[in-house]
Amino acid sequence: MLKTLLVATLVAAPLAGAPAATLIHAGHLVDGVANAAQAEVTIVVDGDTITRVEKGYRAPAAGDRVIDLKSSTVLPGLWDMHVHLTSEYSHNSQLEGFTLNEGDVALQGAAYALRTLNAGFTTVRDLGAPMNTSIELRNAIRKGLVPGPRIFAAGAAIATTGGHADPTNGWAQRLMGTPGPREGVVNGPYAAAEAVRQRYKDGADTIKITATGGVLSVAKNGLNPQFTEDEVRAVVATARDYGFKVAAHAHGAEGIKRAIRGGVDSIEHGTFMDDEAIRLMKEHGTYYVPTLSAGKWVAEKAEDPNFFPALVRPKAAAIGPQIAGTFNRAYKAGVRIMFGTDTGVSAHGDNAREFAYMVEAGMPAMEAIKAATSVPAKFMDVADRLGSVEAGKVADLIAVDGDPVADVRVLQHVRFVMKEGKVHKDQRQP
Ligand SMILES: [Zn+2]
Repeated sequence: MLKTLLVATLVAAPLAGAPAATLIHAGHLVDGVANAAQAEVTIVVDGDTITRVEKGYRAPAAGDRVIDLKSSTVLPGLWDMHVHLTSEYSHNSQLEGFTLNEGDVALQGAAYALRTLNAGFTTVRDLGAPMNTSIELRNAIRKGLVPGPRIFAAGAAIATTGGHADPTNGWAQRLMGTPGPREGVVNGPYAAAEAVRQRYKDGADTIKITATGGVLSVAKNGLNPQFTEDEVRAVVATARDYGFKVAAHAHGAEGIKRAIRGGVDSIEHGTFMDDEAIRLMKEHGTYYVPTLSAGKWVAEKAEDPNFFPALVRPKAAAIGPQIAGTFNRAYKAGVRIMFGTDTGVSAHGDNAREFAYMVEAGMPAMEAIKAATSVPAKFMDVADRLGSVEAGKVADLIAVDGDPVADVRVLQHVRFVMKEGKVHKDQRQP
């Protein structure tokens, strides 16, 4: 009892010499919510939290620290809603499936996490990691063992046999074994539910299914539906029991529609989304994560006859160039869109190129910025703490030179990154 009182007193009493506030003087602020930037703002940070955002440059009180970003634009830390943080596709990827162990994958993930954070992305959703390595990487970042973004991890994605995320696709028969729900291969609603529960047990935050074929799996078809609607429903119903959102990779229209009707929360890629699929997305409130970066990257690599395995190259050439047109139609129709790149296909750290692709494909820059800040925070049900620069929010902030609303490409050169009130990167011009 005495001990409890003593502790309570110590915590409650203002300590002499306690760290004072950090005052960030922002030349411009794009806060992630408002439709226009504000000029000459002070952001007051106490510990890991923004306590005030006020007009003008507040003079520091004794002990306050000032971070001078008067010549910069400050924004919320960026979100990428579709990454694969523990892998990066290369000419060797197929072989690496046989040569890398969990530790190798997790440690390369630590390097990619650093590149991602340096690029201004303070939060990511990892939608599929070999051997659940995204979960361990998330834990290491949370403990402060390695620098990186906050991760919402799906662990290993869930596919059907031979489906896009079947980890044994393209292997010799004698090596395949029979991967099951634990590894992410399900057939039928019971196995689908088991795979979701396994991910809960493994410590995942969210669920990813591969509702159709995909480009980079060593399998013939990139578009075919690979889940029945019953299987999707079983995944979604089980996910709800554990508070998980469900993301569905989907290229072909039939698989997209089954996923939407089955109740998934987001469609990833959505390449051959037809008008009926667009209507269904609006009706169900399903979000669209276009991953234009992945489309550009695979289309470019498909031109090299030796880069992809023979089964992959024609799919990359056919699917890659379609996505920008789909994005434009979906945006015009009013589908809710979140920023996501599928980085791990393209190179880690290049995530912000997606902004330029979104603007090229018809979305105003301010909307693209919201799609990478307040929109995903709301989607993940954490908007009370994340996704904007407002009092009461976690101090995840970045700064760039110039005006990202006038030229969104400036977001490819992030000079300052603060995550949870700690300065991670500071390359301000002297
Ligand atoms: Zn992906």
